[in-house]
Amino acid sequence: MKFQVINLGCKVNAYEAESVAALLEERGWTRIEDESACDAVLIFTCAVTNTAAQKSRQMLHRAKRSNPNAVTAAVGCYAELDAEAMPEADIIVGSQNKHRIPDYIEQVQRDHQRIIRISDLSRPVEFEPLKMDHFEDQTRAYLKIQDGCNQFCSYCIIPYARGRERSMAPEAAIQEAVRLSQSHHEIVLAGIHTGRYGREYGVSLAQLMKRMLASAEQLQRLRVSSIEMSELDEEFLELFASEPRIARHLHIPLQSGCDSVLKRMNRPYDTQAYYDKINLIRRLVPEVSISADLIVGFPQETEEEFESTLAFVEKCQLSFLHVFPYSMRKGTPAAEMSGQIPNDIKKQRAARMIERSHQLYDAYMDQWIGRNAEVLIESESEEESQGHASQYFPIRLNERAARGELVDVHITGREQHVLIAESAKK
Ligand code: SF4
Repeated sequence: MKFQVINLGCKVNAYEAESVAALLEERGWTRIEDESACDAVLIFTCAVTNTAAQKSRQMLHRAKRSNPNAVTAAVGCYAELDAEAMPEADIIVGSQNKHRIPDYIEQVQRDHQRIIRISDLSRPVEFEPLKMDHFEDQTRAYLKIQDGCNQFCSYCIIPYARGRERSMAPEAAIQEAVRLSQSHHEIVLAGIHTGRYGREYGVSLAQLMKRMLASAEQLQRLRVSSIEMSELDEEFLELFASEPRIARHLHIPLQSGCDSVLKRMNRPYDTQAYYDKINLIRRLVPEVSISADLIVGFPQETEEEFESTLAFVEKCQLSFLHVFPYSMRKGTPAAEMSGQIPNDIKKQRAARMIERSHQLYDAYMDQWIGRNAEVLIESESEEESQGHASQYFPIRLNERAARGELVDVHITGREQHVLIAESAKK
C-alpha cells in the first residue's frame, strides 16, 4: 500500500504529519510523492490564515480528482474548525486521535464509511504523544512537548483549533530526548505555546530542560523553537545564562511594536516590558540572537501605529522578523472589529516590514564578521561544510568537517545571507 503526506502548516503540523507517516510505515505502507498512484492521501491542514485554509481545501480537491479511489484524510487545525467545508475527505481528524489515523484508513478501505473525529476542545483534552524519527537532516531533531493555548489573543484561531494547553509528561519527554540524542546532535523543543510547558505537572520548561540536559549527556544543543516574553522568567533566564548547550537564539513573538495595537490584540505586555526584557537577556547573554513574529495591518492599525512598530523593531535591534499580514479568522474577536485594513495596504506594510527585516538580518550577521562562533556541521562536501551557529545563522566553513561535529570557527565575511568562516584553530 502506498500513501502520500502533504503538510500545509507550521512546524508542529509537520512534526505530527511525519509521526503519522512513521506509524503507517511501521505497518508496511510505502511513502511516495505521486498522488495518482496512492492508496491514501493525508493532508495536514492549516487554519492560521485564509490562504492556508483555502489551500487545504484545494489540495484535498486535487487529490480526490487525480485519484478518486484513494482514501483521503484531512487532518489538523482547519479540519477541526471547518469539517463541513471538506465533504470530499473520507476521514476528518481534528486536533486529537492523530495516532489512530492508520486504523481509520484501513477501516475506510474495508467499510467504505466516512470517519469524522472532531473533539470538544472547550474541555481539557490529554496530550497525544506522537513520536517522530524522520527529520530533514540527521543533525537536528524536533520534539513536541506541548500543545494547545489558553491565551486567546484576539486575532488567533489556534485556541479554537487546538484546544487548551496540555503537555507531554516530564518523564516521557526526558526519555524521548535521551532517545533522540543517540542519533541527533541538536533537539528543538516545539509546541504551540512551549513556554507554558508542564503547568499540569507542576514542572516548568526550565526544570524540564535542566533534566533533559543532565540525562542526555551527549546532546550538543537544546533549542527552544519560540517562547513568549512573559515566560522568560528568572528561572528560565538563570538556566539560559548558565548552560551553553542551550542555543543562543530566542524567538520571542512581538506581534506589534505599538501599545494600542497590542492592547487590541489582547497581548499580555506592552512595548516597554518587551524592551526591558530583551535588554535584560542581552545583559545576561551578550551573544544572544533575538528574533520575533510581527503582524501588520491589524484592524484599525493607523499609518502612525505602523510607523511606531517600524521604529520599535529598529530600537530593539532584533536579528530578524517573521512578518504576517493580518488574516481575518471567523470566530475570533478581531474578525468582528471595525476598521479592517484593505488588502493592498496590508501587502504594502508587509513588504516594508520584510524589507526592514532583511536589513536587520544583514546588519546582525555583519556584526559577527571578525568574531568566533560555534557551528554544528549539517552537511559537507570535498572542500567545505555547512551548518548553523548556536544563534541560528547559517555558516559555510571553507574546509571539510564531519556532519554532527561542533566546530569553533572564525567568521571572515558574508555572502548574501550566509556567513563565511574558517577554522578558529588556524
Ligand atoms: S499565544 Fe496568542 S498567538 Fe500564540 S497560539 Fe496562543 S492565542 Fe495564538
